[in-house]
Amino acid sequence: MRGKIGVPPTMRSISATSSPARIKFWGTRGSIPVPSPETLRYGGNTTCVELRADGEIIVLDAGSGIRPLGVALDREFQTRPIKLSLLITHAHWDHIQGFPFFKPGYDSKNEIRIFGFDGAGATFREIMTEPMRSPFFPITMRELSARMDINKLNEMKFSLGKLDIHAAFVNHPGVCAGYRIFTSSGSVAFLPDHEPYEFFLHAARGKQLSPEETKEIAAEQHVALVQFLRGSDILILDSQYTDQEYKTHIGWGHGSISSAVALATEAEVQTLLLFHHDPSHNDEMVDTMVESARQIAMKSGSHLEIAGAQQNSEMVLEAKKVAAA
Ligand SMILES: [Zn+2]
Ligand SMILES: [Zn+2]
Repeated sequence: MRGKIGVPPTMRSISATSSPARIKFWGTRGSIPVPSPETLRYGGNTTCVELRADGEIIVLDAGSGIRPLGVALDREFQTRPIKLSLLITHAHWDHIQGFPFFKPGYDSKNEIRIFGFDGAGATFREIMTEPMRSPFFPITMRELSARMDINKLNEMKFSLGKLDIHAAFVNHPGVCAGYRIFTSSGSVAFLPDHEPYEFFLHAARGKQLSPEETKEIAAEQHVALVQFLRGSDILILDSQYTDQEYKTHIGWGHGSISSAVALATEAEVQTLLLFHHDPSHNDEMVDTMVESARQIAMKSGSHLEIAGAQQNSEMVLEAKKVAAA
């Protein structure tokens, strides 16, 4: 695996059928877009990641970063149809707000398959269609001319073309999924929003559980998540807060530098990408957080590679060479 951080989007075009797998970050910010001279490197757009592998184009979440992705796809494909699958982790604004501005949705030659789970108090179809109606938006989903399939997920394992995809529910307010995508070059896990189980168990909210029961469920969920992530080549993980900030944000649904490094290390992940940057963190602050994450990993003797996910950067995931027997 080699990472390429900071390559501008126009420098190369990616073929949908090429191997190795390629990952491009179109939005890395959490909560709300924060375009500013101070967020130029890590980016101001909210969550959107593009993965191309084994002939598929997978888009992970539809935060404001999906708008420039749409523009780039349009430019690349021109008169050819765009076929892609959009996987949604959950209904929070920063993960769906860009969809109404996704240009390929407005062209009848294109085919967009959207996948996600029912949310808390809303079906998956409602999550995708309700924000696109009056009085919130002037155009409804029905008026989009692309072929649009909204697919509610029922299974935690499914395939898209040659790609196997595993889903897991993570620790976040409401219903929130994480995905792990198995490509012929390795696997990429995407958990943009997740709080460490040991500090706050979101599933226990509103339930009459004793502290012991809560602790037990949290421990079980943690073990299951480690199993889900085990051996991932790349883990894109919520690490919104510094350890100090996290102390005053317990229960907000997000992770810290220490918790991200600990989870990635325990799951024997190769590369951890710090993600869902806090809107109040400028580039310099995220640099400091990346450095402190590396220090934490080094002190624990972990060989984890760590970087901060940067908007417009690309990563290449190459198939491991297996020696001939
Ligand atoms: Zn979020
Ligand atoms: Zn969220």
